[in-house]
Amino acid sequence: MMSPSRDGSRVSSDIRRHNLSLLTRQLASNGPQSRTRLAETTGLTKGAITALTAALVEVGVLREGDEGASPARAGTGRKRTLLRLAADDMAILVLQLDADVATALLTTLAGDELLRTERHHGRPMGQPGPIIDVLADTLRGALDEAARIGRRVLDSVVVVFAPVSGDPAIVVADTDLDWGPIDLLGELRAREPRLAPDARLCPDAALAAQAEHSLLPGIDEMLYIKSNSGIGGAAIAGGRLVVGSRSMAGAFGHIAIVPNGEPCLCGQHGCLVTVAGPDVVLRDAGLDGLRQSAGLTVALGELVRRLRAGDEQAVAAWEPASEWLARTLSVLTLSFDPAAIVLGGYWAELTDLVEPRLRRLVPPIAVAAGWTPPAILAGTLGADAALNGAVWNARDRLLFDPMQLSARRD
Ligand SMILES: [Zn+2]
Repeated sequence: MMSPSRDGSRVSSDIRRHNLSLLTRQLASNGPQSRTRLAETTGLTKGAITALTAALVEVGVLREGDEGASPARAGTGRKRTLLRLAADDMAILVLQLDADVATALLTTLAGDELLRTERHHGRPMGQPGPIIDVLADTLRGALDEAARIGRRVLDSVVVVFAPVSGDPAIVVADTDLDWGPIDLLGELRAREPRLAPDARLCPDAALAAQAEHSLLPGIDEMLYIKSNSGIGGAAIAGGRLVVGSRSMAGAFGHIAIVPNGEPCLCGQHGCLVTVAGPDVVLRDAGLDGLRQSAGLTVALGELVRRLRAGDEQAVAAWEPASEWLARTLSVLTLSFDPAAIVLGGYWAELTDLVEPRLRRLVPPIAVAAGWTPPAILAGTLGADAALNGAVWNARDRLLFDPMQLSARRD
């Protein structure tokens, strides 16, 4: 059992961390402020603000400076001291690998873009080496740029369109690229040793779901499911991401929905991805050639255009896929009872075609009880949902524990 004094110090350090994060988040969202103003906006006492800001100034997270006389003090000759986040020498780095492209994004702590590079990797199936070479090149370019503009990278996130598990985290399998388990962070570090030792590997759908959820105030129970590179998903319950006991929650693309269906790369039969994944739908819509020549994003955009235009082959490809998607959403609705289901990837543009199919699948006894299916909402962040999620996640982590910032300055 924990002794009272140890317990007491744990509580007080939690409170201190909470107050520090309140203060830095206030400065991040509202810009430079005086100590008096900070006391008003955070609700902390002036004494607490004085002590906390002194600690943050000492370690270099905050900087103070005279910012001219305040209107209230005009004529007194006194200038007020404003505190600002000393964040102009810091950066967040996000790498993203999807079925077509390796992306590097460098942003300020507030999330403003400093550099974005994208390189097609050519998708050689089952050959991780050449693809990781391309990703390592984008990493190298971003780190060189950070050094050139004098920014220290405080948090590095590598986003993959695949499930991630283990400690250290590895890619479990990437069905878009035909990869088995692979230590992507280790492979990247072998090519570019400057990759931070605490770089994080994250699946795209979890980050995208958190980003979309942050734009839906008041919705605490939400499912996210998307299709671009493969099919991915995530559940938000009680306002928080459901991670699962093995970090595998949200693998909705591998729900075996079709009895005695086609074999899936995961080893099961009849997974949702085998009947509604982008490869199947694009093939059946006659868009394989466009996918090869112009890439997945362009081909999926063309699929949506043809569906809207009533193209027979596109509609014939979409019909069975959307029916299996609706059946899967019905299973998930009965499992999670969400207030909303957010569709991402190209499905965001087809919510009106999915919603009536799900409505038809509500169990009759539930209809009799007046039960309505969850709202089907279009994701609003488009192709950048996971990148945005990664940046916002890194920003919140750093601002929640601002003393980390000082630890990383040396
Ligand atoms: Zn599967």
